[in-house]
Amino acid sequence: MKALANAPLDAEIIAVGSEMLTAGRVDTNSLYLTGELNNLGVEVVFKCVIGDQRDRLADAVHRALGRSAIVILSGGLGPTEDDVTREAVAQALGRQLIFDPAISAALEQRFARTKRKMSEVNKRQAFVLEGAGVLLNDRGTAPGQWIEASGSVAILLPGPPHELKSMFERECLPRLAQLVPRQAIRTAFLRVTGMPESDLDALISPVYKKYQNPVTTILAANGDLQVHLRARCSTVAEAEALLAEVTVPIEALLGDRLYSRTGDPLEVVVGNLLRQQQATVAVAESCTGGMLGARFTSTPGSSDYFLGGFITYSDSLKTALLGVSPETLQEFGAVSPETAEAMAVGARARTASTYAIAVTGIAGPAGGTGQKPVGLVYVAIAGAAGTLVVNRQFLGDRQRIRVFTTQMALDLLRRRLTGLA
Ligand code: ATP
Ligand code: MG
Repeated sequence: MKALANAPLDAEIIAVGSEMLTAGRVDTNSLYLTGELNNLGVEVVFKCVIGDQRDRLADAVHRALGRSAIVILSGGLGPTEDDVTREAVAQALGRQLIFDPAISAALEQRFARTKRKMSEVNKRQAFVLEGAGVLLNDRGTAPGQWIEASGSVAILLPGPPHELKSMFERECLPRLAQLVPRQAIRTAFLRVTGMPESDLDALISPVYKKYQNPVTTILAANGDLQVHLRARCSTVAEAEALLAEVTVPIEALLGDRLYSRTGDPLEVVVGNLLRQQQATVAVAESCTGGMLGARFTSTPGSSDYFLGGFITYSDSLKTALLGVSPETLQEFGAVSPETAEAMAVGARARTASTYAIAVTGIAGPAGGTGQKPVGLVYVAIAGAAGTLVVNRQFLGDRQRIRVFTTQMALDLLRRRLTGLA
């Protein structure tokens, strides 16, 4: 194997098929295979999609076998001219393809069972690489192949996902379990909000840069930041200890901006806090038009704490449904701390909720002024201890401003519920 005994093994996946190089089709087999390999503690370090072209595929297989212990190919094992995986791997390894009469007979029987005669082209599927083990296909015609060569293994699997999965589970997992040294992957998912990605990286990179293992990645989307740390060791206990060594100092640096250690999204974290405190929440939304309520209710069981809300886009509904006085709207405008506060207080009074969150802002692209530019947002949280109003100036398009506003609103409630400033 391409690794010293007990050192981690790496894998590569090659998806074969010209259709996956078009705009409409994606390679999903590799996602499944990656999950299964990770369960064995094997990291996928490289994957690619290659069209049905023998030379290019042979070249890719040659490179992959030169650097990785496990190379899995999916697709191109069918009977037709464009199914070139067998030939390409033979070319890459400099091995012959040998006709296997037993496979041919099994194929003929399979056709006979459906009262069809096997056509000549199907015989292509009975060719096996010199020295290969045959992997049975219980869902289709193309057999798979297991080929060990110069310290690596190449595994040829059929393209149709249900055939590939069945073959991988039955024929490959037991073989791989024998082959792979004991190794375990453990992942930590930290989630953070309220800071830009670059600030987060500047804050925590002095810690994680000291380690190649675990591998740390930062993902940013919609005002939400995720820090993923993947540790790979020979035992679960070692992997967990190594993760703790890195995550504990990172968590200390993140402080109260860290809202989840389990990967849960903000609405789940806030929902759990509400449930623990036997508190309820209602929303009054203007510029987010229901997005905040949608986030609360995206979690099963949210009826435990989410009472409902008001989408009050117009001034007249802010008055009719929430009791915001026309004078407040007249004097300060719909996008103002006074209106946000009145909306939250009104929503809380009308629903008898423990907390009410109100949101009002200018999502754009039109409607901004010098004093109230696009992206200006007010969020108010009303509770028994009074009402807090916070404003933010977001940048970006309408969707981004609205999503960031829901993030801000949820985080304010989280802070209120955990006694943070
Ligand atoms: P067949 O005998 O069906 O021709 P094959 O092994 O030659 O099997 P392909 O022809 O490459 O497989 O693919 C057959 C079908 O399987 C594709 O049309 C596609 O729908 C699906 N498929 C192939 N590769 C993938 C992949 N990587 N991810 C998801 N689906 C795939
Ligand atoms: Mg095919």
